[in-house]
Amino acid sequence: MPSSSQGLIVVSNRLPVVLSKADGEWGIKAGAGGLVSAMAPVLRDRGGTWVGWTGTEGAHEAESLLGDFSRDAGYSLCPVRLEKEDVADFYYGFANEVIWPLFHDFQSLCNFYPRYWRSYLKVNKLYADAVISSGQPDAYVWVHDYHLMHVGQLLKEMGSTRRAGFFLHIPFPPVDNYLKLPWRDRVLSALLEYDLVGFQTYRDRRNFMQAINVLLPHVKSQGRGPVVELLVDGRVVRVGAFPISIDYRSFVRTARSAGVSEMVSSLNAAMQQRKMLLAVDRLDYSKGIPYRLEGYKEALSRYPELHENVTLMQIMVPSRQEVPRYQALKQDIERMVGEINGLFSKPGWNPVEYQYRSLGREELVAYYRAAAMAIVSPLRDGMNLVAKEYCACNLGKRGVLMLSEFAGAAAQLQNGAVLINPFDTEGMAQAIKESLEFPQEQVRKRMERMRDGIRKNDIFRWVDMFLLAAFSRHLNDFPTSNVRD
Ligand code: UDP
Repeated sequence: MPSSSQGLIVVSNRLPVVLSKADGEWGIKAGAGGLVSAMAPVLRDRGGTWVGWTGTEGAHEAESLLGDFSRDAGYSLCPVRLEKEDVADFYYGFANEVIWPLFHDFQSLCNFYPRYWRSYLKVNKLYADAVISSGQPDAYVWVHDYHLMHVGQLLKEMGSTRRAGFFLHIPFPPVDNYLKLPWRDRVLSALLEYDLVGFQTYRDRRNFMQAINVLLPHVKSQGRGPVVELLVDGRVVRVGAFPISIDYRSFVRTARSAGVSEMVSSLNAAMQQRKMLLAVDRLDYSKGIPYRLEGYKEALSRYPELHENVTLMQIMVPSRQEVPRYQALKQDIERMVGEINGLFSKPGWNPVEYQYRSLGREELVAYYRAAAMAIVSPLRDGMNLVAKEYCACNLGKRGVLMLSEFAGAAAQLQNGAVLINPFDTEGMAQAIKESLEFPQEQVRKRMERMRDGIRKNDIFRWVDMFLLAAFSRHLNDFPTSNVRD
């Protein structure tokens, strides 16, 4: 951790809490996820503020709870208020119908409506206002993700002299895709107003640099390694690759717990000696669920010896359920599950077990432990934490990770995962069959290499690396070990 004792302001779309109403009473609890657990101690130590939306329209009356939470957490929560039309045009519009599909290579799904752009700028200004109102004029501002790319620029326009860094959690697209964005110059210029811009992988950073070469050719770069520098109108902007990770030790602890061990025994008993192939995704077109089902169906058609010996456990977490495109995707997936089960089921065996719900941490970890294979096959993914969590929980090292080469995680886990092209359903079928036949020693070695890598490069190190790149004077001694091309 850099020695600087400068305060920290974290800015993200959502605050790290969940507000909910039960029996007319508002309640608050900490959000789950590695980012929250890794940022909390840093915010506490440095004295900090987290700026974000509560996630609930009209929850103004619940905001006094944020004060109570802040006192317990040891850092302040600063809420941004969004109106119904902001949520529609900024969140569902610009974020989810423009940047999300474009940056995940689904440009045909984009709706480039100018009103979305205007709402995005308006809402980014609300976040910048909240940063200013939170005080701490010397704090470092760390802005997260694609919803808020303009906050740094808007802060400067308002006269803020705070240094600011930005991390993009999703991929940055190849330049030909990026060029389709009607506001491409303004977004790129806004990103260059930060002192540090972080991406998940070298590939994302390379895409970003190519966009700069095309649109802003006067900007020159220097250096090599995970963090390089751009010279922008006399200023230095650092640009780095910082692959995000998980709280490895916490997952291992949970995986070892008595409660989880009990759940694993029940799952094993229910599987009746069959191998569980596990897939865990949020409902989203970027996750490639239909292609995966097609690949599995192909495996069952080609290799009858798999019948009754494997079960695909497809867990799908509800997401953006109000959006028609997501409803249609869900229907497609459910139709495919029905079709596969209709074709291959036998008494006492369904080839696909499907659950449409969110699992609690312990239950999820039990599935990770019980699965002989995880099939993580997004068509595009910034990182994919499920892949890393599966490895962390694989205490027996008897599991195979099948991983899409288009997940950011592939850059780090290629030394142990079976990499697949998620669009190649026949290749996937063959890979399923072959991986199930790997000798145990090979499986163990592959898993061990991945687990070692994730243990060393956990979420705490990710925070340290980003802040090191933000605060260090020189980049010469910046460690290179955690990033692979
Ligand atoms: N997850 C969860 N409950 C579930 C399934 C998944 O809390 O039932 C969590 C999982 O532990 C992981 C996250 O959801 O941390 C998914 O992250 P990932 O990077 O894989 O994909 P994202 O949904 O962010 O695109």
